[in-house]
Amino acid sequence: MKILVCISNVPDTTTKITFTNDNTEFNTAGVQFILNPYDEIALSRAIDLCEGGKGTVTVINVGDSSTEPTIRKALAIGADDAVRINAMPQDAYFVAYQIAEYAKTQQFDLILTGRESIDHNGAQVPAMIAELLDIPSVSIVKKLDFDGKTATLSREIEGGKEVVEVDAPFVASCAEGVAEWKIPNMRGIMSARTKPLQVIEAAATEQLSKINQYQTPAPRSAVKMIEADDVKGLVDLLHSEAKVI
Ligand SMILES: Cc1cc2nc3c(=O)[nH]c(=O)nc-3n(C[C@H](O)[C@H](O)[C@H](O)COP(=O)(O)OP(=O)(O)OC[C@H]3O[C@@H](n4cnc5c(N)ncnc54)[C@H](O)[C@@H]3O)c2cc1C
Repeated sequence: MKILVCISNVPDTTTKITFTNDNTEFNTAGVQFILNPYDEIALSRAIDLCEGGKGTVTVINVGDSSTEPTIRKALAIGADDAVRINAMPQDAYFVAYQIAEYAKTQQFDLILTGRESIDHNGAQVPAMIAELLDIPSVSIVKKLDFDGKTATLSREIEGGKEVVEVDAPFVASCAEGVAEWKIPNMRGIMSARTKPLQVIEAAATEQLSKINQYQTPAPRSAVKMIEADDVKGLVDLLHSEAKVI
């Protein structure tokens, strides 16, 4: 079994987000980048499925060389090898196109992604990869079993659960619950340094969208303190200012 796991390099969740160049670019100065958490659980599930020599896990990232520490982390967690498509990701289509072009040269049974990247939160790349490869796509998967030919996937839907059966090859975007997070151990960290990391130049394609501007949320207004026994004052404020009652 061959599994491809798509990994994105995203700002740490504690990052203070600022923009430069007239609010058209994310300011990466001093930002710590991490492996997208949803991709980490997709990777954990892939490793579980391949446990005991049942298959191999390749991770792929579309990014410049600054993403290599994140790729090495994925190798430390347990991926067998890695591919980096050497390009700055420009939009979801660009990313999906590069991954699909690489996947066409291989015979992957499963292509796993996170449900979304926690930076741009597009949730577009997985379905686009599937469309470009003309294979099925199942999104927001919380449980994934695979017998080598057919997979049974469980998805959470409004008020319930949906169980889907699909034959390989397919794309699945993974959400919390699909696996337990794996923490790299010392042996994994050491072996990650020598695991293969192939760098491929990007295939020529177009960029279908462009970010014109970013905006941060409006700052919160100051907190208004009221006396603990001033119930009327509280009700008045909830009615006239907060307008929630
Ligand atoms: C400098 C810079 C400039 C950018 N400019 C633009 C722009 O002009 N317009 C625009 O739309 N976007 C822009 N982006 C965003 C960038 O293109 C995003 O990485 C891309 O849109 C995918 O993010 P998403 O939120 O849509 O991914 P999602 O669809 O939310 O990601 C879902 C899953 O797809 C996989 N995935 C996502 N990204 C990657 C990746 N890079 N490599 C491997 N797997 C991946 C992961 O498994 C992820 O969990 C820019 C990013 C950077 C760093």
